[in-house]
Amino acid sequence: MADSADSHDNALARRGLMFILSSPSGAGKTTISRMLLAADPSIKLSVSVTTRPPRPGEIDGVHYFFVDDAEFDRMVEEDDFYEWAHVFGHRYGTPKGHIRNALKEGQDFLFDIDWQGTQQLYQKDQQDVVRVFILPPSIVELERRLRSRATDSEDVVQARMERARAEISHWDAYDYVVINEDVNDCFAKVREILDAERMKRQRQTGLIPFVRELMS
Ligand code: 5GP
Repeated sequence: MADSADSHDNALARRGLMFILSSPSGAGKTTISRMLLAADPSIKLSVSVTTRPPRPGEIDGVHYFFVDDAEFDRMVEEDDFYEWAHVFGHRYGTPKGHIRNALKEGQDFLFDIDWQGTQQLYQKDQQDVVRVFILPPSIVELERRLRSRATDSEDVVQARMERARAEISHWDAYDYVVINEDVNDCFAKVREILDAERMKRQRQTGLIPFVRELMS
């Protein structure tokens, strides 16, 4: 086994990053998030807390922490959230949990949150946040994708279309924008962004001793 002096290759110490994926509902963000988590063991999902009831197949503690209004109120009062927002008549929040310390140790986190949460996280931590927005290829395709979801009623679809237009209007508050025409292409682009962001000089805290050694 190589000793520590020889094992610099890709394992230089670095800060973790907060990788935010936002999109209007139906643009494919959830699929891309799942693909990313399955393909890359170095990034963990930041599991949000929500007052919305679980959808079929959703597991408490995996997809969300499902809580009632009283519990959410308690968490707000105790300052347990990095950010929280009202979305579709329910509340959603990012719990602080162990994120702050894990970032220091180089753990990356994926956030599936809306533009309001993105804004709040960015205000708190510009250094670690990477903001990626996923757009549908057209509004017609977005509606088609939303209609193919059996779980939502017509009212919910209409509300989501309205909300989608509102969400899209915030596209310019993101660092990267990817159009999801083809899910595999979109996923490949999102991975490229993540890989490049990991190599940012400011993030690679191990570079200084490494380069010093190279120059000595
Ligand atoms: P859904 O109910 O479809 O899972 O999510 C609805 C919306 O809430 C999505 O746009 C999702 O990104 C957003 N969302 C999920 N978790 C959070 C969170 O912790 N904070 C914020 N601000 N938005 C969230």
